[in-house]
Amino acid sequence: MLFYSTNNKELKSDLKQAVIHGLAADKGLFMPEEIPVLPDSFWTKLPELSLGEIGFETLKYYFCPDISEGDFRQLTADAFNFPSPVVSVSKRISSLELFHGPTLAFKDFGARFLARVMAHFTKDYNKDINVLVATSGDTGSAVANGFLGVKGVNVFVLYPKGLVSDVQEKQFTTLGQNITAIEVDGTFDDCQRLVKTAFMDDDLKQQLTLTSANSINLARFLPQMVYYFSAYAQAVKQGRKEMVVCVPSGNFGNLTAGLIAQQMGLPIKRFIAATNVNDVVPKYLSTGHYQPAPSIATPANAMDVGDPSNFIRIQKLFKHDLNQINALLSGIAINNDDIFSTIDKVYGTEGYILDPHGAVGYRALEKCLATGEHGIFLATAHPAKFPETVEKIINREVEQPERLVAFLNGDKQVESSSDKYEDVKQVILDKTL
Ligand SMILES: *Cc1c(COP(=O)(O)O)cnc(C)c1O
Repeated sequence: MLFYSTNNKELKSDLKQAVIHGLAADKGLFMPEEIPVLPDSFWTKLPELSLGEIGFETLKYYFCPDISEGDFRQLTADAFNFPSPVVSVSKRISSLELFHGPTLAFKDFGARFLARVMAHFTKDYNKDINVLVATSGDTGSAVANGFLGVKGVNVFVLYPKGLVSDVQEKQFTTLGQNITAIEVDGTFDDCQRLVKTAFMDDDLKQQLTLTSANSINLARFLPQMVYYFSAYAQAVKQGRKEMVVCVPSGNFGNLTAGLIAQQMGLPIKRFIAATNVNDVVPKYLSTGHYQPAPSIATPANAMDVGDPSNFIRIQKLFKHDLNQINALLSGIAINNDDIFSTIDKVYGTEGYILDPHGAVGYRALEKCLATGEHGIFLATAHPAKFPETVEKIINREVEQPERLVAFLNGDKQVESSSDKYEDVKQVILDKTL
């Protein structure tokens, strides 16, 4: 399959180029040139498939034969090796728990898959490739853990000193092996600027093969469709056929994957795009005007996005037809007070602990479900990742899963740098040459 640029339908790349470059030459995002409809045989066997097998059966149309089917079967089994259970929370609302991976957030799905696809394409290089990523917290941990131990790839995570939470920092500074964390004396914006500067530095690129692993890479957003199929299989077993799916959204990669799954034949009745007060998309859906805005800090901080990069992909899927989009998708913004009171109420009445992002999804369903509908929201992170917010509200400690405790007990190993590019470059060169 070829992948076109959202800026120009005629500009196409093969899978390997699209994955390694991330962005098209004209700076557009890559989209699959066609979306296949799954055969009847898939639906017959779906109830028996593991998550890895669902990944193979649904993603092979995009990734094979560029990757051989044998290799791809192995790759999907290895990437999706943890569960995504649908758990009933209240009478009409279930949670699709996506936080059972190594860093307790759904970004593990995309990051683990991307890492293995990249390793596949670069294994014949006689040089290592080097992934550079700037993080304000969550992306760094998912990417670092996704690439941990992957041969031939070095990862450099740049993060702002003192500005990420303790839990987040431990998840990418205690790994060792092929992961180097660089603590930058500056802000997240400085870290992003340093990464961009590195990608434009011909001298550095002559010495090292550089690549990025951010969320616009098609091999990071597409694999997220696997858990929508898995959710459907589970819902059917639980006696429900009709799904209303609510996606707590920031950059809208997660929702885009769900919409593609739907176009491949997954019977989702409708989607709800839930945001925090960063409500550019809900406003667009109701007015037709897309007006990016500076982001506003909220307790659901992984969704603090003022100009969602993947929204263009959704527009392409619906050929920019707002009526068609509105027929399947509605938007709603949830404010901070609602996030706090939802965590409180759902713990009090149902005994279920929501994280701030999941709380956005739950509350959106409460507000949007019609009579007779049952809703599933995507629980994108484990509440133990946000103890500062959650424990104050529910008045007790959130139990930490073992893998989080292991991170917290690990030794922090970091390189330090000023916010000057030459300093960061030296750290990277010292580690690689
Ligand atoms: C990244 C993230 C989101 C937003 O996902 P998008 O695909 O960017 O819309 C939501 N919740 C959590 C916990 C995240 O880390």
